[in-house]
Amino acid sequence: MVKVAVLGASGGIGQPLSLLLKLSPYVSKLSLYDVRDPSGTSVDLSHINTIAECQSFDKDQLVQALGGARVVVIPAGVPRKPGMTRDDLFKVNASIMRGLCEQIVQVCPLATVLIISNPVNSLVPVAIETFKKHGINDASRIMGITTLDLVRAETFLGDYMNNSRVTTVGSNQFDKRRMHKVVSVIGGHSGHTIIPVMLLKPMVYMMKPGQYDSFIHRVQFGGDEVVKAKQGQGSATYSMAYAGYRFVEYVLKSIQHESLEGLGYIPAYVYLPGLRNGSQAQAKLGSKELEYFSVPIQLVNGRIDAVDTTILDKLSEQEKLMVEKAVPELIANAKKGQRFIHNAAKL
Ligand code: ADP
Repeated sequence: MVKVAVLGASGGIGQPLSLLLKLSPYVSKLSLYDVRDPSGTSVDLSHINTIAECQSFDKDQLVQALGGARVVVIPAGVPRKPGMTRDDLFKVNASIMRGLCEQIVQVCPLATVLIISNPVNSLVPVAIETFKKHGINDASRIMGITTLDLVRAETFLGDYMNNSRVTTVGSNQFDKRRMHKVVSVIGGHSGHTIIPVMLLKPMVYMMKPGQYDSFIHRVQFGGDEVVKAKQGQGSATYSMAYAGYRFVEYVLKSIQHESLEGLGYIPAYVYLPGLRNGSQAQAKLGSKELEYFSVPIQLVNGRIDAVDTTILDKLSEQEKLMVEKAVPELIANAKKGQRFIHNAAKL
């Protein structure tokens, strides 16, 4: 059985994510760590009669929290405070990511590390470079979770299709739970770097005029809808927790050697040069400089065995344009993360 550690377990995402993981049949130990003591969450969850045994660890107990962990999920970070720029936020969260990864390298170097903290586009490179700096060059176990973009695409597309040109009555309704056969999302995890891709291209022609463009915009900027609705009280937490859980469960199923067939290959934001078929993906995306990208991944035993590049062969002209627009931004985002570690090393 598997021990999963959640770093940042007291947060808006960490708490509901921990609840969902407590319900998972694949988790035997759930280790909750936060700099804000997560023992309340842990005791509360421990009263649920499911398999996972909960343990909480306060700020000075990271080593104990990580001991024996097979999977580490990281939603830890700080929200943007008044007067703080995005760059300030990056620096704080990059320091947190570096600090957590330095401990993971020491305590559970073989764990699979799944990153939720933002900006994902830059923090996954921070994690990869921290591991490299400590002698571990293994891109197969470090992934940025972009599943919320996929979840939103599935939900919104289902909504649009149920209100489209085609008659959808009774059993003809589109089932949102099955939309992974219809749509995927590649690229990065912010704004224009998020690229919804139609797996069934005729869907676009079934939409009413303007619906396709508005669908793309909603997937790319869906986070803003939540921030606005929460009126300054935070960003997406429940939907992110669900998305994180769906991805962690995908990884856990592969650790249990369960069939992933039927789930589709879920994309993750990964370091292409370190992965099988990664250079093929770079070639198809037209840039060797582009090292980080979210693509469907094939997992074996909780690690990426290869990236699946077939999705890149079937892009429409509009999807190709979105890729072209995203590539320079993704390159810059990744460089920012890499520089953070390299420049610190020179000091
Ligand atoms: P979100 O809505 O993204 O979950 P929150 O601010 O609610 O944002 O949650 C982030 C969590 O990360 C907080 O509980 C915070 O205490 C935690 N955190 C911040 N720094 C660290 C750290 N170095 N290690 C572990 N947890 C951290």
